[in-house]
Amino acid sequence: MKLRKQLLVTPGRKVVLAKLDPDHTFGWEKSDAVAKRLEQNTARLEELQLRLFAENRHALLIILQGMDASGKDGTVRHVMTGLNPASCQVQSFKVPTSEEIRHDYLWRIHHVVPARGEICIFNRSHYEDVLVVRVRQLVAKEVWKRRYDQINDFEQMLTENGVTILKFFLHIDKAEQRDRLRARLADPTKNWKFDRNDLDVRRQWDAYQRAYEEALSRCSTKWAPWFVVPANKKWFRNLAVSDIVRATLEDLHPQFPRPLFDVTKVRVP
Ligand code: AMP
Ligand code: MG
Repeated sequence: MKLRKQLLVTPGRKVVLAKLDPDHTFGWEKSDAVAKRLEQNTARLEELQLRLFAENRHALLIILQGMDASGKDGTVRHVMTGLNPASCQVQSFKVPTSEEIRHDYLWRIHHVVPARGEICIFNRSHYEDVLVVRVRQLVAKEVWKRRYDQINDFEQMLTENGVTILKFFLHIDKAEQRDRLRARLADPTKNWKFDRNDLDVRRQWDAYQRAYEEALSRCSTKWAPWFVVPANKKWFRNLAVSDIVRATLEDLHPQFPRPLFDVTKVRVP
């Protein structure tokens, strides 16, 4: 499970996104072997999820961030394949509602952190509060500046209480985003995904990259690591995320609980 090491943002490292190639595949090539590995990961994830649920000790929180069209939805679809929706959820974070905005920014997040035994995927997250909020100056600098430490503390508290956290930044470049946004316009089955607001965000590409760099550099911690996933190639993105999720669940060694009674002494009439 080498990708977990290769894509990790070592805590304390300063990330410069321009130096990380969104096309890099770490020697992997699109092949039958990759397709097979993905299939095996999916099957194994299904089993690990069942054990996690039965054991009822750990929760897994997977955070997905990335520019528009970076593949967050596609990754959710992929990682979820085979998982039982009974103990797996997806939470998408949009512009805060009028109620959410009246609370602190972590309020709506904490509320939906997975319970023991559960897996939850966040499509966007509290990181939006140091990304879009910073770039669009939705709060004063003094306010968002403090949030990096607050987020680290919040995530540490969660991990100390049974939540394992994985954070993936899906790294695409501007040309790839252009092609994907054009595809949304060209394909009638994708028109609904095209959001004109994405063009304003695209114009501020560099400011978003700076904001991502600071979040990745300051908030990759021992307890809640960031991974930068080269995501121009969808097959590699899927391979990387499923490998890392699988390796992390394997490390938790979830076990089926042993019955508290002697099963040989119970008869079902
Ligand atoms: P999508 O993920 O394409 O459905 O878009 C969701 C939109 O909600 C994106 O433009 C995000 O930047 C925006 N959004 C998410 N969280 C926040 C937040 N805390 N403050 C402002 N905008 C947000
Ligand atoms: Mg969108």
